[in-house]
Amino acid sequence: MTYDLVIKGGSIASSSGVTRGDLAIRGETIAALGADLSGRETIDATGKLVLPGAIDVHTHFQLPFCGTVSADDFENGSKAAAMGGVTTFIDFAIQAKPASITEAIEARRGEADGKVCVDYGLHAALTEWNADRQAEIGGIIKSGIPTFKMFMIYKSQGWQSTDADLYCALREVAKHGGMVGVHAESDDLINLFQAEAEREGLTGAYTHAITRPAVTESEAVARAINIADAAGGRLYIVHMSTGQSLDHLEEGILRGVDVHAETGPHYLLLDDELFKREQGHHFATCPPIRKPADQERLWEGLSSGSVEVLATDTCTFTSEQKAMWGGDYRKIPMGMPGIEVLLPLSYSKGVGEGRLELGHMLELLCENPARLFGMWPRKGTLSVGSDADVVIFDPDLQVTISHRDLATNCDYNPFEGTRVTGWPTTTLVRGRVVVRDRQFVGSPGYGRFVKREPVAPVDGR
Ligand SMILES: [Zn+2]
Repeated sequence: MTYDLVIKGGSIASSSGVTRGDLAIRGETIAALGADLSGRETIDATGKLVLPGAIDVHTHFQLPFCGTVSADDFENGSKAAAMGGVTTFIDFAIQAKPASITEAIEARRGEADGKVCVDYGLHAALTEWNADRQAEIGGIIKSGIPTFKMFMIYKSQGWQSTDADLYCALREVAKHGGMVGVHAESDDLINLFQAEAEREGLTGAYTHAITRPAVTESEAVARAINIADAAGGRLYIVHMSTGQSLDHLEEGILRGVDVHAETGPHYLLLDDELFKREQGHHFATCPPIRKPADQERLWEGLSSGSVEVLATDTCTFTSEQKAMWGGDYRKIPMGMPGIEVLLPLSYSKGVGEGRLELGHMLELLCENPARLFGMWPRKGTLSVGSDADVVIFDPDLQVTISHRDLATNCDYNPFEGTRVTGWPTTTLVRGRVVVRDRQFVGSPGYGRFVKREPVAPVDGR
């Protein structure tokens, strides 16, 4: 038997362990795992890890936001994904009232299809709740978008959901086996603290942290969990950033609420002292990076399994765009690049520094995202029959992170100067090499929209 492509002699890793051997690909799928497999083409992976491609479930490419548009478009952003070993990402189609969610999805597909270099999916972000939106839910899930997002903040953008909206959406989405994600921050509390800062004449970048203390997130996390407990349905907390939120999450899980959560490398590795730097505004994102104590609690949340996903919330703004702030923290375009360093940081700071087992890292980056977001076992695993989304990872390669070496359009990096050990060198998407020896060799439009399956049991009540 001769396969199309065989990756030879690598350490093939999954959540259950590492096996030395060959991985064979036929067409777009993994055809065999074993020893001495032969292919028309071979890639030597001796001394390397062979990993499932990472899945970043939280990105915002070319997003109009804060008076500008995020600087990595679908082409460049997905190229950065490939360079970082991310083979599937999930972005957002945000409903632009009065247009429907379906129209938002079509518009977003129009922006992404033809440009994406890796596979992608979309979440549907609801910016209102009424009979028309309710009527769309079942069809959207059937069309391959089983995950929704609602914003508990951003009232001024017209995106905010009320508690009642969230309750009704959870109940309706549950009937069709979907999941509702929430951006959990309290608009009311943030407005209060911003008004207090204004009275005190505070405008610098650190004011971003002062006006969004932990309670502005944890209060909203607790509220969302309580609403989900009453409404039924599956809840997902995006970009969870504080220890107090983790306390609420763990309490919710204990009492049987169907709640899941993600955090990201920036919350695990950066702290809010960075806002005091001259370029502190570069680090502003929502929710803000936190205190060292929050980092420790979030690592504990990963260890205990209560935080199930690592994702980046990539939303790139260049230093020129960030300069729009003009010294007023309220005008900073909120977001940072991240997708390209997700896997190297998780490996080096997690596995390399003894905080995560390799198998657990693969659960956080590959298996859990695939399961929770309706792509398992097509994505997220190196199993026979799965899509051949494969990363060859050099665990010994030492890299000092610099924006100059990255594919993102960003001219700085929040992890600039961070030394990591381990970097992806070759990336395959559905059997095709898109990065070879750290050189991008893919093409725009090769990536495909992934139609995802329902993610939760259908709630018939
Ligand atoms: Zn986001």
